[in-house]
Amino acid sequence: MAHDLIVVGGGVVGAAAAHRAATAGASVVLVDRKHAGRATDAGAGIVGPALNTRDRPELLDLAAAAARAYPGLIAELTSGSINTGYERVGLLAVAIGEEESRRFQQFEDLVLDRCRRRGHPTDHELRAIDAEEARRRHPLLGDVRRAVLDTGAARVDGRKLAQALLAAARSAGAEIRHASVDTLGEVMTEAAAVIVAGGAWSPRFGEELGVTIPVEAQRGQIAHLAVPPEFGDSADWPMLSQRSDQYQVAWPGSRIAVGATREAGSGFVATTTVRGVQAVLDEATRVSPGLLDAELLEVRVGLRPVTPDLMPVIGRVAGRPQIVVATGHGPTGLTNGPYSGRLAADLALGRVVDHDLAPFAIDRDFA
Ligand SMILES: Cc1cc2nc3c(=O)[nH]c(=O)nc-3n(C[C@H](O)[C@H](O)[C@H](O)COP(=O)(O)OP(=O)(O)OC[C@H]3O[C@@H](n4cnc5c(N)ncnc54)[C@H](O)[C@@H]3O)c2cc1C
Repeated sequence: MAHDLIVVGGGVVGAAAAHRAATAGASVVLVDRKHAGRATDAGAGIVGPALNTRDRPELLDLAAAAARAYPGLIAELTSGSINTGYERVGLLAVAIGEEESRRFQQFEDLVLDRCRRRGHPTDHELRAIDAEEARRRHPLLGDVRRAVLDTGAARVDGRKLAQALLAAARSAGAEIRHASVDTLGEVMTEAAAVIVAGGAWSPRFGEELGVTIPVEAQRGQIAHLAVPPEFGDSADWPMLSQRSDQYQVAWPGSRIAVGATREAGSGFVATTTVRGVQAVLDEATRVSPGLLDAELLEVRVGLRPVTPDLMPVIGRVAGRPQIVVATGHGPTGLTNGPYSGRLAADLALGRVVDHDLAPFAIDRDFA
């Protein structure tokens, strides 16, 4: 075999797998078609599992490990002009208006109790703050009544992160090809192991492998706005998590990303729609009325690879030990993708895998 590993897909998951394998000394090729609608390029960038009340414990454990691994990975990647935008700015969950405020107690109890039970984050890192402090930390907030702050949460720029991972993989000897893989048979002759990290486009390989890869494309539209100058510099503002499941992520340079839609059944149509843009702008201005005068800079569209149970697939295909599938990261792929890419690479190369991957098996019950 010419190579140890071929990775199909160069989003955050594939790029992380190639980086891990190349830096471990393996001979690696990554093949990426860079489809329009690649999720990594649209991701908001929230790395903050402590306020997540939707995901299952197994996924929260993966996310906690992934968040802990981030600083080490970023330190490895950041040098000279390479900057991933990673910064621990914190995440603020907010209740706007009377109605949300009444329902907020349940959310607050859940996340604070879980934090006490698990022992992390510490109650210094995760705590309720009053409306005044919330507005001081995030000047765009309107009628905020209650808030919980997770100071450990970070933001990352998915595009820059994937580029940095690919650049580091290349420096470690990986070959990056801009091409499309039509069948795995094509590439299996070239390498001892293959990782399928094709995001929402991964299911096409299921038939060839004799398994169902239960992943669908879920469109997300996210608007980028210029913060009006009177609100000052947004570089250090915490990210906002809203009761509607939408969020706001501020960046240096007075830019703020607001969104995003979750459009099940969208198929592979990576376009913006009036309905989608209207929904994200209505919700953003409800929470932050000061954005009504913001300039609309651009709207990004990404196709999240989602599974029925919202858990990723990371594992070998039965009867095909040389194939590892790593996809289905849904709405949390920027958080979990760098870590699961690393686990997938370790698995494919026969190295020790330091996380229990059983909950993410491809043949699990997805109900
Ligand atoms: C609007 C939006 C906001 C989000 N916000 C967050 C967030 O705040 N925090 C978070 O943790 N996650 C977030 N996510 C989720 C996250 O972006 C995704 O889960 C993650 O980027 C998926 O990465 P991936 O590598 O699996 O797939 P992708 O990034 O979609 O990459 C897949 C790649 O594989 C390539 N490919 C596929 N098939 C082939 C083939 N046959 N041959 C060659 N190449 C192929 C594609 O061209 C593509 O480049 C968000 C997603 C969206 C859309």
